[in-house]
Amino acid sequence: MNNAQHSQNDAEYVLRMKVAACTLMLVNEKCMNYSGHVSGRLPGGDTFLIQPIDVPRSGLRPDDLLVCNLDGEVVRGNGDSKPPAETALHAEILRARPDVNSVAHFHHDLTNSFTLVEDMPLRIVKNHAIRWRSGMPVHPDPAHVANAELGRAVANTLGPHHAMQIRAHGQVITAESVEAVLTDSIHFVENAQAMHNACVLGRLAPLSDADMESFAKYFKRDRHVDKLWRYYLECWQTAGVVPAEWQI
Ligand SMILES: [Zn+2]
Repeated sequence: MNNAQHSQNDAEYVLRMKVAACTLMLVNEKCMNYSGHVSGRLPGGDTFLIQPIDVPRSGLRPDDLLVCNLDGEVVRGNGDSKPPAETALHAEILRARPDVNSVAHFHHDLTNSFTLVEDMPLRIVKNHAIRWRSGMPVHPDPAHVANAELGRAVANTLGPHHAMQIRAHGQVITAESVEAVLTDSIHFVENAQAMHNACVLGRLAPLSDADMESFAKYFKRDRHVDKLWRYYLECWQTAGVVPAEWQI
């Protein structure tokens, strides 16, 4: 089957629309820019969708996406299109973490700055950042994640956590769905911005364990992810960034 044979009811095509929409929304929310990518694991578990290296993130469409295996090889594509240079980052995390169905990788400068100063690690200062309560590790090697060995090293640093930074390079967000990876990516950047703002004002007082427990008690993740997905989709479909006919 080639890409043109998909219909809007096809499960793969729905995932294609979600990955493309998520990318467009992260670009327009200024989390992602000319680099970065979102992957979505396909049913069956051992293949995933990812954008080609040469299509602008600002104009991504469902049919552009490539199907890659967990070795990062294209198993179904679009002509001679090649996957991004950092496809191994997605492949090795998806291989190591069966609970993860979507990975976002982007290079957000302000968030990155917390990997560039001593004694100022990113902390939890916004309630939704309790998603990363178990930890937000920083991978020490700033290299492009350009092969499987480097991808395994990144997956190893991530461990069981849900987000990490790569020093002087960028962010990696993992989630159970494309909708959740959008939500978490936006919250990860918001948390870094809030911490930066608070540090300008005075001595930082991040959320305590008791604060986090209190927020977690009434938090419904599925409902929150759905709310944010609907919100950003409505915003960017109304603005004409995400095509209105994508019913996702
Ligand atoms: Zn990168």
